[in-house]
This record gives sequence, C-alpha cells and structure tokens, in this order.
Amino acid sequence: MEQKRAITIAKGDGIGPEIMDATLKILEHAGARIEPEFIEIGEKVYLSGNSSGLTEEAWESLRRTKVFFKGPITTPQGGGYKSLNVTIRKTLGLFANVRPNISYAPFVETKHPDMNLVIIRENEEDLYAGIEHQQTPEVVQCLKLITRPGSEKIVRYAFDYARQNNRKKVTCFTKDNIMKLTDGLFHKVFKEVAEEYPDIETEHWTIDIGMAKIADSPQDFDVIVMPNLYGDIASDVAAQITGSVGLAGSANIGDQCAMFEAIHGSAPDIAGKGIANPSGLIHGAIMMLVHIGQPEIASRVHNAWLKTLEDGVHTGDIAKGKRSVGTMEFAEAVMERL
Ligand code: NAD
Repeated sequence: MEQKRAITIAKGDGIGPEIMDATLKILEHAGARIEPEFIEIGEKVYLSGNSSGLTEEAWESLRRTKVFFKGPITTPQGGGYKSLNVTIRKTLGLFANVRPNISYAPFVETKHPDMNLVIIRENEEDLYAGIEHQQTPEVVQCLKLITRPGSEKIVRYAFDYARQNNRKKVTCFTKDNIMKLTDGLFHKVFKEVAEEYPDIETEHWTIDIGMAKIADSPQDFDVIVMPNLYGDIASDVAAQITGSVGLAGSANIGDQCAMFEAIHGSAPDIAGKGIANPSGLIHGAIMMLVHIGQPEIASRVHNAWLKTLEDGVHTGDIAKGKRSVGTMEFAEAVMERL
C-alpha cells in the first residue's frame, strides 16, 4: 500500500464546509491516498483576534505539507482585514492561477457547447499587490505593479502548460493601449517569450474586446494568459458561460507549494441551505490529485462526476428549473458512480 500524502485542508466560510465535506467524502470513497491536516482560517480566526486570518500552527502545516486544499473564505468588502487569499498566494509564492473552463453540453445547459479554454492568471502582482494610499481625505490611490520577472514567469508557465497539455494557441489579454508601461511590459514580455515557442500559435487582444469575444465565441480560445485582476474577472465570466460559477476549479501553483480551490466565493446567500454545487471544489481536488501523483484516482473521480451529470443529477445552479439535488445528495450520486 502506497504511503498517504499529507495535505493541509481548510473548510473555509459560508458554503465552504458544506462543499468541502461533500468533496472529502468523494475523495475517501475514491481511495485517494491523502492524510488531511485540518486548519482553521478566515472569519473564525479574525474573530478570535488574529488579524492575519491564519494562526502560526496553520502556517507551519502549510510550510510542511506544501499542498493546500482550501474552501472559499469570506473577505470583508471595502475595509476591514486584508484579503487572506492574497496573503496566502503571496506568502506561499503561488505565482500561477490555472482555471480551466469547459462546457459539459448537452448535460449542462450552455449557449457555447464547444468551449474549452484555460485561463492562466498572474497571481501575485498587478493591483492585487495591495498597495493603496490615502493621499488626501478625498483622494485615494492604488498602485498597479507589473514586473519583468513576474511577467516572464507567468507567460512562460502558460506556454509550457500549452505544450504539456497539447494545446495549440496562447492568447494574451492586456489593456496596453491605455496602460502603456505596466500592461505594455506584460505584452512585450509575451511577444518575447512567444518566440521561444514557435510550435504554438499566439495572439493578443485588448481585455475589453477579448472579454466580448469570450462571451460570443469562446470556442476560438485555447490558453489565455493575463495580469491578475483581469484574470479574476475573466475566469468568473468564463465559468458562468459554461453554466455556473459553481463548476470551475482552480490550481494556484508555486515553485514549492500549491493550493487548490473552487473559483467561486463563500456564497453567503445560499450558505447553510445544503444546496451549493460542490463541482468547483471537486475540480480543484482533481487537479490536486494529479499534482500529488495520483492521476488514476483523479480520472476515476472525474469520470464519476461526468457520469453523474450525464445521468441528469444536477444541483440547483445548473438545473434550470428542472429537479435538483442538494450538495450531499450530489456527492452521494458521484460516489455511486465511482
Ligand atoms: P460568490 O462566488 O461567493 O457568489 C456569487 C454568486 O454565485 C452567488 O449568487 C452564489 O450563490 C453563487 N454561487 C457561488 N458558488 C456557488 C456554488 N458552488 N453553487 C451554487 N451557487 C454558487 O461571490 P460573492 O458573493 O461576490 O463573494 C462572497 C464572498 O466570497 C466575499 O467575501 C468574497 O470576498 C469571497 N470570495 C472568496 C473567494 C475565495 O476564497 N477563493 C473567491 C471569490 C470571492
């Protein structure tokens, strides 16, 4: 029997515990060789007086296991504590955020049945560096930080990802007609790095028209690389086009550590009702299993999940008025098909 891999797990806030419990049941049933170490993050930790949202023991676990499986957390809006997601990504050096968005038509209703794209979002820089100033009582400033090393790293990651995953094209989104220095540097680096990958087709779109094209003809895209904020927005839009933000998972990759999660947030509007779609977190788990060298379990979970959708078992967000099941019932349906 192969040894179990220790991973750090946080259930998170809002719907986090519901979708995490459902996903962990599936992983256990599928025979995933993991040894969970549970940590507390987010709201409860803030309320206990720890302003970082993560205890020292939690950091110790993360530094040791180097793999974090995380439920969504609530981040106070427009004030209060600094985003814990941003802190974790920066502290663990998780520079690449990989977000596949795939249509599951005809089993999940979407206007774009041929959509199959991967958004690769720079994860540490840009406006998310969190450098904000109150200049005068009436003027505030946020600094947009783009570096050449950071841009080279994420762009090269996107091209390597395309090669390794047999994808043919990498598109870059920026707004360098306006932000000539910052987005201009990202685009310039993209053009330079692209020369090292002559086997891969490349293109660039200004983010606004690029997003319109994703909404209209997402099947024309393959891998898309972009600065942090654009990637955050684009990946929610892309996931919703496939049917629901509740479908997509995300891998946050660094040189030493990696974190896996759903792309969506803690959905306070439906928390505690047992109706959230666990699919985004299940997709995060599938990417994690591949990362820790258990691809055969990842395939089993993915196939069972697909079969569940094919058999018409849907959570409310994708049921479109038809009969729907709750979070745990959906997970049980996946387990029956493993
Ligand atoms: P959200 O993604 O939580 O919810 C947006 C909408 O999508 C809501 O109507 C919600 O009910 C629905 N939804 C989301 N996930 C769903 C699922 N799995 N199944 C069914 N429906 C689902 O976005 P929000 O409301 O803007 O944010 C809520 C909180 O989450 C905020 O505090 C925000 O900062 C935080 N957030 C955290 C993360 C993260 O931890 N990675 C990511 C995004 C937002």
